[in-house]
Amino acid sequence: MARLESFDKLVSLSKRRGFIFQSSEIYGGINACYDYGPLGVELKRNVKQTWWNAMTREYDNIVGLDAAILMHPKVWEASGHVGGFTDPLVDCKKCKTRFREDTLPEENMTNKECPECGGELTDSRQFNLMFKTQMGAVEESASTIYLRPETAQGIFVNFPNVVDTSRQQIPFGIAQIGKAFRNEITPGNFIFRTREFEQMEMQFFVHPDESDEWFETWKERRKAFYDTIGIDPDNLRFHEHGPDELAHYARAAFDVEYKFPIGWSELEGIHNRSDFDLKQHAEFSGKNMGYRDPQTNQVYTPFIIETSAGCDRTTLAVMCEAYEEETLEDGSVRTVMHFHPRLAPIKVAILPLVKKGGLKELATEIKDDLKRHFNVFYDEKGAIGRRYRRMDEAGTPYCVTIDFDTLEDKAVTVRDRDSMDQIRVPIGELQAWLAERILIR
Ligand code: ATP
Repeated sequence: MARLESFDKLVSLSKRRGFIFQSSEIYGGINACYDYGPLGVELKRNVKQTWWNAMTREYDNIVGLDAAILMHPKVWEASGHVGGFTDPLVDCKKCKTRFREDTLPEENMTNKECPECGGELTDSRQFNLMFKTQMGAVEESASTIYLRPETAQGIFVNFPNVVDTSRQQIPFGIAQIGKAFRNEITPGNFIFRTREFEQMEMQFFVHPDESDEWFETWKERRKAFYDTIGIDPDNLRFHEHGPDELAHYARAAFDVEYKFPIGWSELEGIHNRSDFDLKQHAEFSGKNMGYRDPQTNQVYTPFIIETSAGCDRTTLAVMCEAYEEETLEDGSVRTVMHFHPRLAPIKVAILPLVKKGGLKELATEIKDDLKRHFNVFYDEKGAIGRRYRRMDEAGTPYCVTIDFDTLEDKAVTVRDRDSMDQIRVPIGELQAWLAERILIR
């Protein structure tokens, strides 16, 4: 199957079918901000649910959390974000374009020349990526706070609360899905890099002596996850960081990369964060962030193995993976999204061949029965071929057609999205037939 060469086709399909829209479009849009439409929101929810299940349902020793976006400003001092969450920024004095210094060719920095217009570049300066805002009604006395640039800190500061309330013992993990904000210097590539995005993070607390082992375990577990959302292993690559590439908090780091149309790019980072985070918060808050082993009574600061994935990037990878323009025997081209059935926004389309002759009533009955089990879409208008094509673009795995034979034999035609094969299935068996293929496959 030919792979997508750029995001352009995906951007136009997303707008045409209602996956993703430019934010505030009627006002001309706002740079690198996007809204998920009726199909996109279902797709993204299914990505999140699959991740959530792979963490909190799969493992008895992982619990969930939903921390506030706004946190005490000291959190970001302790974490190192106030002092160090910066990218080196340079401006072109002529065309005013901004660049991240580390993405510019070296000769531009040496000659101080802008790659786009030849204008002169400023010296580089550190630019903090956190969005600042004010908390409180009176501006002068209000305190400066930040929109969180990552969800992880909400987990770290709640470590003692979870230990006290959840009956979990080390080793155990805390999973969280939520929004994060970064004032990226060079956002772009559709939803790959945006200033508001969602993260799916799980922080796993372990005894320091066992951290290397758990790091290996989580690498393997996370590799396996991408199979459950239908990503071809050939389009995944894993990169272990060398000692000179490690962030200040990390003892070891491993990236999961996907072959996007823009090249191999990060989907997820897995890090051994050592005891850095809990020790920092203990120092800045004055609170005890240690752990007492109930068996041995040993008190220690746990190490943390972090798995941190971008929800929007994963959704984008899923869309790239699913997209196909297929040339049919008659020379026409159909665009089809081959989503894994688990992720498909609509699971089943119910299509009466025509509205008349009792077909509409019977189709409505079937729809009302199936919608208790799946996200179902009902469409009675237009030529059946065109209705199939629309469902192919939405990535709906099965279309159920109700025709005049249905009134006689109490069976429907089920069309498979990928093979386009059609078979008759008795109405009484339809729900179980679909469940077997949609929920288990
Ligand atoms: P990058 O190098 O691409 O800026 P990062 O290494 O800074 O990413 P982390 O801080 O490790 O990213 O965040 C974990 C995950 O969050 C990333 O792997 C990515 O999937 C997602 N993510 C980070 N920044 C953005 C962004 N601006 N837009 C969308 N997703 C993002």
